[in-house]
Amino acid sequence: MRKMSGRTCSRASCTKAAIKTLTYVYSDSTAVLGPLATYAEPHNYDLCAAHSERLTVPVGWQVIKQEPTSEPTGPSEDDLMAIANAVREVANADLKEKAMSPELGRRGHLRALPSN
Ligand SMILES: [Zn+2]
Repeated sequence: MRKMSGRTCSRASCTKAAIKTLTYVYSDSTAVLGPLATYAEPHNYDLCAAHSERLTVPVGWQVIKQEPTSEPTGPSEDDLMAIANAVREVANADLKEKAMSPELGRRGHLRALPSN
């Protein structure tokens, strides 16, 4: 049964609201995951957030994720990348310090302890 308003995930037994549209480009062995399409096409599949995250494609296929040009809600992809990079940088610096000089790493650790 087709609902008149709103789009739901096309995955079996999933009733969540669709937020992305997956398009299979068979000639290029590519699955394009982009913003919700304005109209339904034969090779389009609407997906909810969870299913677009867990998207899997056949072996040998590639996935292209198209981000919407403007996303008014939540942190942007850039923000998330910046946070991820910052965390990675700290982790890498920490690892490098320990790998290069265990002594220094240990002392650095002690120095970091609160003095009270
Ligand atoms: Zn779903």
